[in-house]
Amino acid sequence: MSPAVAQSANLDYHERLKRLLPGGVHYNFNMPWEEVPIHFVDGRKSRLFDMDGNEYLDLYARFGAMILGHGNEEYLDALQEAIGRVLCVSHCDFDAEPLELMNAHIPSAEMIRFGLSGTEILQTALRLARAYTGRNRFLRFENHYHGNADNIMGGRVTDPKLPVPVDFRGDYKGTAGRATGVMADQSYMLPWNDTERLEAFFAEHGEELSSVLTEPVCVNGGSIEPAPGYLERLRALCTEHGVVLIFDEMITGVRMGVGGAQKKLGVTPDLTTFGKAIGGGGVPVSALVGKREIMALLESKKVIHAGTYNGYPLGSAAVKATFSILSRDDEAVLHAMHRRAAELQSILVREAQIAGLPLIVQGPPGVASFHCCETPLENPGQYDFDLMSKDIIVATALQRHGVLISSISRIYPNAQLSDEDLEFFQIRARKALGEAKQSIDEIF
Ligand code: PMP
Repeated sequence: MSPAVAQSANLDYHERLKRLLPGGVHYNFNMPWEEVPIHFVDGRKSRLFDMDGNEYLDLYARFGAMILGHGNEEYLDALQEAIGRVLCVSHCDFDAEPLELMNAHIPSAEMIRFGLSGTEILQTALRLARAYTGRNRFLRFENHYHGNADNIMGGRVTDPKLPVPVDFRGDYKGTAGRATGVMADQSYMLPWNDTERLEAFFAEHGEELSSVLTEPVCVNGGSIEPAPGYLERLRALCTEHGVVLIFDEMITGVRMGVGGAQKKLGVTPDLTTFGKAIGGGGVPVSALVGKREIMALLESKKVIHAGTYNGYPLGSAAVKATFSILSRDDEAVLHAMHRRAAELQSILVREAQIAGLPLIVQGPPGVASFHCCETPLENPGQYDFDLMSKDIIVATALQRHGVLISSISRIYPNAQLSDEDLEFFQIRARKALGEAKQSIDEIF
């Protein structure tokens, strides 16, 4: 059955949820175009099935987390074994192997701590950096995303002479209820990929900074890769000014390779945060990894990192299984996934050309995004409301035709993506892009 058919069971269920669940969802951004959520009942490999019997190709992968696809047997066996042995204790014998695997592959992983969500582990990274440097402020960048915390979500700089972020109306990451001054007192914000601005900023404020926080490839700003030399210069400036460089590899970690973006790009941060796909997507796990000298503050207990479920057996088993599967045979599974992702992206571009719709795909395979424009974006500031809206029109049309895309325009392949999935994609993309082109022409 095609998803275009009226989804009555899904709609009824949504209405039932809304009575108790705000908006019928557990998660929301200020996006006016958010549709009725689809409730799934089953998942197999790259496909999902909803309450009305519709089938979807899952390129959403739960915000990128589901890197192994649905029902990966080796992964499920590992989780089941863990559940069968011990559900929750403070310390267990599941820890050593995932830690050793991460240490072997990730350049900055001299020491490692596990947590649950990206949001909380990032706050621990900021805390560690403040304690290590004895300084307060951190620097972050426009249109990067680092979680659901007051001090870090959204914002815009209004006075370039003092680049502190403020909340503003119309920001889809803007929120009422922030603690007063929490953004302006704790951070600075700059445009990304602009070496001149970075150098000028460090010359003036470098000694005030505890840390710089960046996605190494800005996936949240449209899958924008760092300009040649940009991360290297950032690394050098941080070293020069005694600032802790933090890479947020929540998305790029394992998706680009088991060593993360840092291994691929050859720039090693002082601390790195991981989440989402490091646990294969089935259970929540995040990790903070970093230099021994900084992580030692946790050992000496000068810095607290607490959490009821930190290092829980199922999470550690999930990390071990994910790294084992993905690192085997020189990352063969990831290479195959990247090849198929590249093919899928070519199909999308070809089908857009047939529809007469300007569309490019950018970013490394595994963390790429499409955009309805002629040339790739060079910095996240270029990802404006109009472009986002066009991208969402395409994503919505794809969803109507059974292809799920992650936030706005991200394409997240999984390890079980097959040739049949590519065929399915091509047929659905042709229909969807024709419709999207028509809508875009009507609106813009
Ligand atoms: N950092 C990045 C780069 C992310 O994309 C996200 C989630 N989208 C987070 C941090 C926050 O992670 P979580 O949702 O697990 O709190």
